[in-house]
Amino acid sequence: MERLHSSCPIQAIDLLVTSQEASTPTSILTSRPCSVKAAPQIITKQVLHQAHGPNPASLMQPIGTRSAICGGTTTVITFAPQSKADHSLLKVLEDTHAKAKNNCYTDYSFHLLVGNPTPLALSEFAALRAKGISSLKIYMTYEALQLRDNEILDVLLEARRQGITTMIHAENGDVLAWMTDQLEKKGLYSPKYHATSRPQLLETEATNRAITLSTLISTPILIVHVSSPTAAQHIRTAQTKGLPIYAETCPQYLFLTRHDLDKPGFEGAKCVCSPPPRDGPEDHDAIWLGLQNGTFTILSSDHCPFVYDDAESGKKSSITPTFPEGRFKYIPNGCPGIETRLPLVLNAERLSLCKFVEVTSTNAAKLYGLYPRKGALLPGISDADLVVWYPRGGMGEVAVRNEILHHNVDYTPFEGWKVGNWPRWTILRGEVVWDREGGGCVGGKGGRFVERGESEMGVRRDEKVEWDVAAF
Ligand SMILES: [Zn+2]
Repeated sequence: MERLHSSCPIQAIDLLVTSQEASTPTSILTSRPCSVKAAPQIITKQVLHQAHGPNPASLMQPIGTRSAICGGTTTVITFAPQSKADHSLLKVLEDTHAKAKNNCYTDYSFHLLVGNPTPLALSEFAALRAKGISSLKIYMTYEALQLRDNEILDVLLEARRQGITTMIHAENGDVLAWMTDQLEKKGLYSPKYHATSRPQLLETEATNRAITLSTLISTPILIVHVSSPTAAQHIRTAQTKGLPIYAETCPQYLFLTRHDLDKPGFEGAKCVCSPPPRDGPEDHDAIWLGLQNGTFTILSSDHCPFVYDDAESGKKSSITPTFPEGRFKYIPNGCPGIETRLPLVLNAERLSLCKFVEVTSTNAAKLYGLYPRKGALLPGISDADLVVWYPRGGMGEVAVRNEILHHNVDYTPFEGWKVGNWPRWTILRGEVVWDREGGGCVGGKGGRFVERGESEMGVRRDEKVEWDVAAF
């Protein structure tokens, strides 16, 4: 996770983005063709979405929203993490508000991260909704956060009652812990074994189980940061049946592979995240296809940065005299990516501009209860959040280098990657906050908390009756 820094106080978010949706007839962008070729400038409106952090300690920090606006994201939803020791979610929300206030360059909201669904915590869901929080995240892995299936059902049932969207990190925590033990017994500790310990099979099983639990309760879920094509197949099958299953993927699953965890020395630790990057181009192609065909609703960053060269709380904290190559099980999970997300994805030219806007901005706004204030450009209704890109070929090619980024981390997993576009201007509520050729980051900590309503996706009004176990 990113270190606190006076100019970069908030840490870990993810977010989504963008804009110009063909189905927004009153949008001020309607005069712009939804095509990179024809448009003199590509304009996208940006919202943002969620960030992630498997390490509960890391989640206690706010996120790098400065980096977000410099990469074309205007709104972020970060995590407000409840640990096993916290009984009240409202107290967690209050504490997270205090950290974020006057510290954000973007507009922002929070996903409540439920690590301990006590009766008190469950009883507070209604109050969370009243306070503008309409999504929460739960984990099927990580010892400190993992919920058992019965606890997941408790959360889903109460979320159903209150109109809250439940995000699920789907990996089988018990099995991957067992796999980790097997590797360590063989003396296999280096970063690349992080991927070995969490094969696609574990993500696929957990994804299918999450879908099953959601179906039992008849409530929408969002499977977050999906990396596995076989997991995506389960999601696709459920969607084809008409089930309200939504899914998110991230740039690391489009551009990185497990081989990035096998770089010389300890360098592979820079790309340790969960789920891990998968095997190769075939996996990338399947994830791109899932974006193109609608299996994935949103494309987020899962921005969860940790300093690499930090022996206390960074990636290198897993190195000890006894374990000079580190122990993969102790490498903090997560990568920075909020600033590079949009340029990398746009540059890949694997999505139409309309789809790019849909999965990076519009759908996120709809899914998270921000639409049409965010994710649209409706006069008198929407905030004037815009990102202006260069015309195709108008910027020239630049290499992603960590020194051109604005997070407070000492590396990017995408060092050296070439991109042919970058946001020229980012505009938040009508004010230019990023001017690439005129001062760079020109915004301040003027980001505001955005109250969110119920998701516009997956709510089946005809099923809004009380769930009844006797009906089975
Ligand atoms: Zn996660």
